[in-house]
This record gives sequence, C-alpha cells and structure tokens, in this order.
Amino acid sequence: MIAKVPKFTLFYIHGIPVKIDITVLIVPLILYGLPAAAGLEPDLAFIVAATLGLLFSLLLHELGHALTGRTFGLPVKQVVLGGLIGYAQLGRGQASRGKTLAILAAGPATNLLLFLLVWIIHATPPLSQFGKVDFSDSSRWLANSVEFVAYCNLILFVVNILPVLPLDGGRILTVLLRYGLPELATAILVAVSGLLTSGAVVILNPGYGFILTLFGIWLFWVNLRLLLQIMSTRLRKRA
Ligand SMILES: [Zn+2]
Repeated sequence: MIAKVPKFTLFYIHGIPVKIDITVLIVPLILYGLPAAAGLEPDLAFIVAATLGLLFSLLLHELGHALTGRTFGLPVKQVVLGGLIGYAQLGRGQASRGKTLAILAAGPATNLLLFLLVWIIHATPPLSQFGKVDFSDSSRWLANSVEFVAYCNLILFVVNILPVLPLDGGRILTVLLRYGLPELATAILVAVSGLLTSGAVVILNPGYGFILTLFGIWLFWVNLRLLLQIMSTRLRKRA
C-alpha cells in the first residue's frame, strides 16, 4: 500500500536514491495547525524550519538503517521519506541475526542521539518544559524549531522501539523471538504484542492528541490483519 504512494527522487547519498512521497505534506499541515489550536497566528518561519528539521531527522533515521546495512554488505535500493512512515529498502542478502538487530536499532538510535545532542546543549532542561513551542514570540522561531524537532526525535525514538509491526521495535522483537521459537509461534506472538501495544497507545494516549490515536488505530488494524492472515493460512494448511 505504502509502495503505491507517488514519490520522486530528491537526491543521491553515496549512490542511494533518497525519495520523498506526497504524504510529507501532512507535516507542514500539522505544524500549521499547532498554533491555530492554541488560538495563535501560524508562524511561517517556524513551519518551514520545523518541517525541514523533521525531514532531516527522518532522513538520518533511514540512513542509519541503510548505511549500517551497507556496512554489512547488503545492497541498499532506496530510502523513502513520508509524512507518516519512511523506510530504507534493503536488497536481499545474508545478514546474521546480530547484524539484522544492529541494522534495525540504527534507525531509532539516530533519533535518540539527535535528541540527546540538543537536550544536553540546552543543559538538560526538564522534559515537561523542553520542546514546548512559544508561539507568542515569533522572533524565537529558530530556537522553537530546534527544540521542537529535538523533542520530536525523542518521540520518534520511543514510538519506533514499540514492539509493534511494521515499526523497528516489532521487527527487533521478531528477530529476538526467533532465537528460541519457531516461525509460526513468533509471528503469532509479535502480532499479539502489536495488538496489545497499539491498543494501549490508543487507550492511554499520553496527551499527544489525535495524530497518535490515529496512528495507534492504524497499527492495531495492521496487526489484526496480520493475525487473521496467520490464522487463515494455518487453517488452510490443516484442511
Ligand atoms: Zn526505522
């Protein structure tokens, strides 16, 4: 489904095509809506800077996967940046479980590093205050953008390591379970973990509003379909 979204090539990094799909338009739209929701004028400089900052963060995340994969000798086909989901498409090759784990962890790790970098430079302020945008002072647009993007990187890190497919955390859980379990049991457990975790995200939504709720619902739907698919193939095999 994601592969069908129209996209175009932005540039090449080390021969890897970096593409962008049209869903990225969601990013400036959400940034436009943030001050409006607080009853304030949208700040164009903030929207542009924060959009670029978020796309840069997504690019680093996907390059983390892509370049780690390439280090282990896997061919990298493309990196795609989208508004809701991005991915690094690696070609088929032999990578051990340990190397696969490293490739998967490299994406979220770049987001954590980016967050820590800005947070430490800002003398580690309390997280409840860090990243809160002061829309009433438009001269602060650059500081607002940097802190906001850094805070988003913390969210990107946390969301991506959730044990839910198709996120990195779900894939990491799959690889880890395969150390001791057969393929079918692993697939079922990972889908169940996806249902429970995405269900918890929807119910316990920690105040990030409808975007996280919608994302949680979408993840729940994806994992429900996965589980039903596993069950129906199993029943067909039995018949
Ligand atoms: Zn990733």
